[in-house]
Amino acid sequence: MRKKIIAGNWKMNLDYNEGLGVFTEIINMVKDEVTGTQEAVICSPFIHINSLVQLAKGYNKVSVGAQNAHQAESGAYTGEISAKMIKSIGAAYVILGHSERRQYFGETNELLAKKTDTVLKHDLRPIFCIGETLQEREANEHFDVIKSQLVEGVFHLEAAEFSKLVLAYEPVWAIGTGVTATSAQAQEIHEFIRKEIAAKYSQEVADATTILYGGSCNPKNAAELFAQPDIDGGLIGGASLKSRDFVDIVKAYN
Ligand code: 13P
Repeated sequence: MRKKIIAGNWKMNLDYNEGLGVFTEIINMVKDEVTGTQEAVICSPFIHINSLVQLAKGYNKVSVGAQNAHQAESGAYTGEISAKMIKSIGAAYVILGHSERRQYFGETNELLAKKTDTVLKHDLRPIFCIGETLQEREANEHFDVIKSQLVEGVFHLEAAEFSKLVLAYEPVWAIGTGVTATSAQAQEIHEFIRKEIAAKYSQEVADATTILYGGSCNPKNAAELFAQPDIDGGLIGGASLKSRDFVDIVKAYN
């Protein structure tokens, strides 16, 4: 059985104290209310990570991640944060290739392949994001776009390394728009992704890969999305900023 994960991506929201408050609420609610095997992950801004890791100690259903890492080991890259630093404060995951990084920071598949290597080298699990824009979907290019994001971003990995990845399908047109993909639309892409993994590696590797859906996922639509055979959890933006909503989404995957 593959791992079920509900990951929150706080993006550039919540100051330090606000973040600790929301996270403390999440931990308490998960402890009291979540009975299944799913793991809740919060990917916070860098400044929160160390404290969140401390708060999460002893709660094995809650983990902490970063939202980005630099591709280099270390060096003269003013303002950047390395994978080694992220590992050293106890984070477990790093989101890579989010469409906002691709769009606003010019991150290409080629750069993301390097970031993936560096993050894996430091024993962190990438949550690697892929997904098409509205234009690409309307031009019926979505399968091609997703395939090239996979081929150029992560298919250079050996099977053993690839198996450490979590993938996240996030259609750009569904992010922060309130327009979620229908469960059928999401399932269609997740099934396609899993078939591509099977063709590249093996059915066994494909069956073990956790593939999350992201894009306007909320407590109302989560259960139907998570009931799809190839959807293994969610990557949650806006709704992860509210502890009640986030934990309700976690609970929707029982
Ligand atoms: P929303 O849930 O706010 O649409 O954001 C999704 C997302 O980008 C998560 O990474």
